[in-house]
Amino acid sequence: MKNNADKVIEVLDMTKINIEEVNDKLNKGYTILMAFEKGENVTKSIQDGWSGYLNAKVELKEEKENCGICGCGKPANILVYVWR
Ligand SMILES: [Zn+2]
Repeated sequence: MKNNADKVIEVLDMTKINIEEVNDKLNKGYTILMAFEKGENVTKSIQDGWSGYLNAKVELKEEKENCGICGCGKPANILVYVWR
């Protein structure tokens, strides 16, 4: 769960992690703090509290300019917690 502070991994450069690694960490019970460029998909996942792509729960941490690098290489402006 996301409140298990011992098991939070920050991935602020999403180009440095692939979906297999994400899956592995989520399955091991880690919460991952991820950085994205805010767009339709991320916005919808936050509204739903769920990402079908990641097959995981999603919760907004904060919106902040240049808080990391999105998986597509663009500057990120939103941070979300992801966990299963
Ligand atoms: Zn992106």
